[in-house]
Amino acid sequence: MKHDDVFCKIINGEIPCHKIYEDDDVLAFLDISQLSKGHALVVSKKHYDNFLSVPHEEMHKVMDVAQRIGQVSIKFLGASGVNILTNCYESAGQTVMHFHVHVIPRYSGEEKVIEFKNVNTEELNLPSIASTIKNNI
Ligand code: 5GP
Repeated sequence: MKHDDVFCKIINGEIPCHKIYEDDDVLAFLDISQLSKGHALVVSKKHYDNFLSVPHEEMHKVMDVAQRIGQVSIKFLGASGVNILTNCYESAGQTVMHFHVHVIPRYSGEEKVIEFKNVNTEELNLPSIASTIKNNI
């Protein structure tokens, strides 16, 4: 438990939330600012800063719940697609430093929630980048 962390406070019952799932390791609730109808967050109950530092077992439990919420969004909320994503560190848009996965239902005809812009691949040395990752994975 990290005392200044908003998700630890939600897990601890100090801040209310619209809870949708809970077990010993995982909590899921609606995001306070809905990017779309049913935008949910799935968090590990133990505090880890983000996806890159969470142990495998807990990561798998969180992803399992995210998958199930995604399936429910399509079957019961009328979504036609779902974005499942997790931000790591500020430069990637992480604002709450407690591991969480977003489940963002998408509805046909809705404006795109997420738009990625390509960088110019001609300016990149793709073989070198690939081997840096391959050699260190
Ligand atoms: P991040 O940008 O770190 O990936 O996502 C953090 C998310 O937490 C944001 O979408 C934000 O709306 C949500 N959030 C921040 N504070 C609260 C809160 O007190 N309650 C709930 N339900 N969501 C919150």
